[in-house]
Amino acid sequence: MRMQTQPTASHFINGKYVEDTAGTPIEVIYPATGEVIATVHAATPAIIEQALEAAKTAQAGWAAMSGTERGRILRRAADIMRDRNHDLSILETFDTGKPYQETSVVDATSGADALEYFGGMAATLTGEHIQLGEDWVYTRREALGVCVGIGAWNYPTQIACWKGAPALACGNSVIFKPSETTPLCALKVAEILVEAGLPAGLYNVVQGLGEVGAALVTDPRVDKVSLTGSVPTGRKVYAAAAEGMKHVTMELGGKSPMIVFEDADIENAVSGAILGNFYSSGQVCSNGTRVFVHKDIKEAFLTRLSERLADAKIGDPMDPETSFGPMVSKQQMDIALGYIEKGRAEGARIVYGGEAIEGDGFYMQPCVFADVTDDMTIAREEIFGPVMAVLDFEDEADVMARANDTEFGLAAGVFTRDLTRAHRVVAGFEAGTCFINSYNDAPVEAPFGGVKASGVGRENSKAAIEHYSQVKSVYVRMGDVEAPF
Ligand code: NAD
Repeated sequence: MRMQTQPTASHFINGKYVEDTAGTPIEVIYPATGEVIATVHAATPAIIEQALEAAKTAQAGWAAMSGTERGRILRRAADIMRDRNHDLSILETFDTGKPYQETSVVDATSGADALEYFGGMAATLTGEHIQLGEDWVYTRREALGVCVGIGAWNYPTQIACWKGAPALACGNSVIFKPSETTPLCALKVAEILVEAGLPAGLYNVVQGLGEVGAALVTDPRVDKVSLTGSVPTGRKVYAAAAEGMKHVTMELGGKSPMIVFEDADIENAVSGAILGNFYSSGQVCSNGTRVFVHKDIKEAFLTRLSERLADAKIGDPMDPETSFGPMVSKQQMDIALGYIEKGRAEGARIVYGGEAIEGDGFYMQPCVFADVTDDMTIAREEIFGPVMAVLDFEDEADVMARANDTEFGLAAGVFTRDLTRAHRVVAGFEAGTCFINSYNDAPVEAPFGGVKASGVGRENSKAAIEHYSQVKSVYVRMGDVEAPF
């Protein structure tokens, strides 16, 4: 029997599901078949108001609890998520079309990692003591208040947790707006948090398009905005948040380089290029979509890559054997196919795939272009689809300059057996997250985020605490106060 995909109601506010059918209907489409599997309604002003009131009201009591108490609830939620991994993974596959082979090991599990990690860290959050002769200063690490999270559609459960877990650990309340394309998973995160003991009003989910996000960002009750999305949306949201002098985290797009030197282990480099271009059908922000391959090994690399791509199992994402699923939407597939057309027109050579696949659902083949030059559109713009651009190089200094010649700076990778070169190259990368002989790992223990147009702030790790809390300095005078008159 098929899983129930229609949620109890569209929104989750103040500890329970709420509906307002006056909001614009949003159809949820299963990307593998094109079928409508649920309908939710965009938040009306009344729903947005309810969420803001609930979040504002609940926050002070939560911040007043001890970190140990807050953390215990988050860790309990992590355990529930792991226990329900199978069902949550199926729902994530319905929401996004990503193969169960991926969702069962990446999505709810990485969400649970964040809840567990920040749950454990909650009790360790402290200020410091600064002695100044007899006098002293102490700092209090305090919550920001109400945090708004706005998500992209590629990792809906993970994004809901990566924003929610550190925010809650620090004593904030959260209003999360999922992407309109994938509204289902965050509701489950909210349900689980409440089941784990989270008091009502602290993690709310409201649905809607960009305008709902924009209404939240501009509300004076909101203290922080964390967006995962594209650079153009990031510019708008950052500007709106700046107007209200709010804290921001911006996790935006990229066009990341991966450099494969002539001494690289070719099999590992091909694996890295596959992970960094075709996982989640290429819909990953940190993907290394500009693959610079040294000219001496280029043909060997392309041959092995094509052989490995022929082993991809494209098909029903619920089949555990399937390793390459559909695109999230027809629109996203058309965008990727449009870039493939541009690549051909601008003179790049297709080495593999690049065609839409006939039938139901939004399927296309993975695509590899060779002979790509730096000025081609497919080498400059984020595609957010399974389109790899292979560029040639000969000289390290030259390839470094080319790798950094982009407005983006999310990630970058290098494959080489030369230890000193590997570290020299990553030191030179203008990117927030780098990989040596690997690609796209994102453990919760490590900071994740971009430089340049790819973002501001860091998610995960201890670094996220700085973005969900603030310090208050308290000066304590032990003697008399001296005044000039
Ligand atoms: P998008 O920018 O179209 O939308 C992101 C979210 O912002 C959605 O929830 C959308 O409704 C909302 N939004 C749109 N306009 C808004 C506005 N004016 N005010 C407030 N909210 C608004 O992005 P997308 O198509 O959903 O996702 C793909 C993009 O996300 C890619 O560029 C990708 O690189 C990026 N991404 C980045 C990361 C990261 O961690 N750096 C992770 C995943 C995806």
